[in-house]
Amino acid sequence: MVRRITLLCLLLTAAMLAASGAELMAGAAKRKITPDLKSGAPAYLAGFGNNRQATGVHDDLWVRCAALGAGARPVVICGVDVIGIFWDDVQRIRAKVPGATVIVAATHVHEGPDTMGMWGPQRGVSGINNAYNAFVVEQAAAAALDAVATMRPANAQMISVKPKDVAGYFDDSRPPVVHDGEILALALNDMRRDRIATVVNWANHPETLGSKNTLITADWPAALYERLETQHGGTAVYINGAVGGMQSPLGAKLTDPKTGKPAAPETFRFADVVGEYVAGHVMDALDAAPRAVPIDEIVYREAVVRIPVANAGFLAASAADLFRGRKQMAAEKLSVSPVGYLALKFAGKPVLEAALIPGEMYPELSVGGVIARDAGADLPGSPVEPSIKGMFTAPYRMLFGLANDEIGYIIPKAQWDEKAPFTFGAAKAWYGEVNSVGPEAAPMIARAMQELVRGARPTPPPTR
Ligand SMILES: [Zn+2]
Repeated sequence: MVRRITLLCLLLTAAMLAASGAELMAGAAKRKITPDLKSGAPAYLAGFGNNRQATGVHDDLWVRCAALGAGARPVVICGVDVIGIFWDDVQRIRAKVPGATVIVAATHVHEGPDTMGMWGPQRGVSGINNAYNAFVVEQAAAAALDAVATMRPANAQMISVKPKDVAGYFDDSRPPVVHDGEILALALNDMRRDRIATVVNWANHPETLGSKNTLITADWPAALYERLETQHGGTAVYINGAVGGMQSPLGAKLTDPKTGKPAAPETFRFADVVGEYVAGHVMDALDAAPRAVPIDEIVYREAVVRIPVANAGFLAASAADLFRGRKQMAAEKLSVSPVGYLALKFAGKPVLEAALIPGEMYPELSVGGVIARDAGADLPGSPVEPSIKGMFTAPYRMLFGLANDEIGYIIPKAQWDEKAPFTFGAAKAWYGEVNSVGPEAAPMIARAMQELVRGARPTPPPTR
């Protein structure tokens, strides 16, 4: 009996020490990454066709970071207004921030410079301006360092909302019609209750300005940043989600709440309607949320997976050096890409979990709904990957898309479909596979995530 009490006392002391030594700290910073159009170098806008050169700037592009720590090595979550950022450039950013683990996720904006090389002056000619990519790396590292330097005692708030009308904000071009429409946010406030940062996670393409616009813009996230920062203060960070196959507001029919009339497509007002919608839901939910969710531990784990590349176009692009030294896939026909797992915990239990996915995952892989047996599929009956959010136990479950790398679409293996007959009785192939490394991406990433959640992989990750 005596021994038992002693043991209990020891356990309690240990728990108290852990709690007192693990105060939540948070900081934030942002840096502009708007290209200098007066430099003379053309800025090829990414995401649609070739040779779309920027003619001006409507609003600035940013790298926006929130730093979090609870006792151990801080984690910095950065959202970057670019189409995609390759693992090579993420490693360059990390090398400049040795004291923290930096997570870098592209917002996937389709109205900014080509950082991936695929939208140059013509097919087969890179659109990457290496000086611009180097500038993005510098600014991201500077913002991450600044975010860490400004860390102070903080409280966390979390929200998750799935508005009834959210499906109207997606024009999904490929069945099954599945969205991961949940709007999530992590807000960090200091002890004076001033907002430090709001990290927003939602899955939709920032491409509302369409393929003809030539003015640089962060697209609808611009309005999200502006609304959140004007009304709630702090630094707004947007992290995209499972946007594959094809989660886009571009063809959606939206009503402008200011006029009650349809918002004209491919206009800045349309972009604002989307951004204000997300910001409004985030702010309403935060206003009603508990002021402080206790956090005493932050866990980050990462694994590097070697995904077979079956896409002849990607291999040819790599061989032709479209990626300007990045993404060397051609020799081994492999994409070397990180998969990550982030957990904010209290008393050993996850309160918020986030999957870091190196590309554009189909939402049915995030929330479930894969159609397993379609005779039109190329690999029918392939095992269905477990849903990523279904692997988690936390009440708040995020999926960071285009995180630390961009390998294109991540398609359920059972829905992989390049050859006739086609799935869902279609007369021609669905759009998607042409922008995917191959059918092994989804099962390999799902397997890696399962191991990371279980803690079967080493932590912390290698920094280089
Ligand atoms: Zn996309």
